[in-house]
Amino acid sequence: MSCEECNGKGFITQTDYNHDVVMKIQCPSCLHEAKFLEELEMQIRVVLRNTSHEKMIEVVSSAILRTNQDSTDRLETLVHSKNIPALLSYV
Ligand SMILES: [Zn+2]
Repeated sequence: MSCEECNGKGFITQTDYNHDVVMKIQCPSCLHEAKFLEELEMQIRVVLRNTSHEKMIEVVSSAILRTNQDSTDRLETLVHSKNIPALLSYV
């Protein structure tokens, strides 16, 4: 979803009346959202540390297939070559 404040550009313009210039600054809404997502990711990591290795493998394998059903040939090749970094890049 695109930011309503910056239309997804990540920057907004702000007038500095003291120096009579228009400045381009990072969008506060996008910065806030990025900070929120970063904190949520850290909280998810903490919770997931308490799950088993096997459960994580099951969930990741399922997610790879569910989101890449048009790339099964490529996934099969990566499985046969045991290319773990490439497989994980499909998550
Ligand atoms: Zn924004």
